[in-house]
Amino acid sequence: MKFRCPSCGFIADYLPPTHRCPTCDKFSHEWLSYDWESFALMKRRHVGYNLLIIGAVLINFLVMITSKSTDVRQWLFNLLFIPAMISLFYCRQQLKRKSEYEGHSGRATRPWFIGGWGL
Ligand SMILES: [Zn+2]
Repeated sequence: MKFRCPSCGFIADYLPPTHRCPTCDKFSHEWLSYDWESFALMKRRHVGYNLLIIGAVLINFLVMITSKSTDVRQWLFNLLFIPAMISLFYCRQQLKRKSEYEGHSGRATRPWFIGGWGL
């Protein structure tokens, strides 16, 4: 696993123990992970989660229509469709842009439903 300095873009083979960049001499708590393979694997997993959510929403929606449900919780569940579609779209975009990959933060490893929107 490699790491990328968020200030100057220097790529290190290991995280400097002091978190100080040897090139630009800046200290950072947020060194980016620089590993396309694990990033892509994780994004594919997020695509899977999103497809599952979208599938569950569609099933829920069909059940609601056929049973003429007025359950508010069931209606609210349908709202998950929106972030799942947005996330699905972004994950797919990111997977297509290997050449633009510049490392990722720890937040990017979490899917949106537990707070991971960032890159
Ligand atoms: Zn640097």
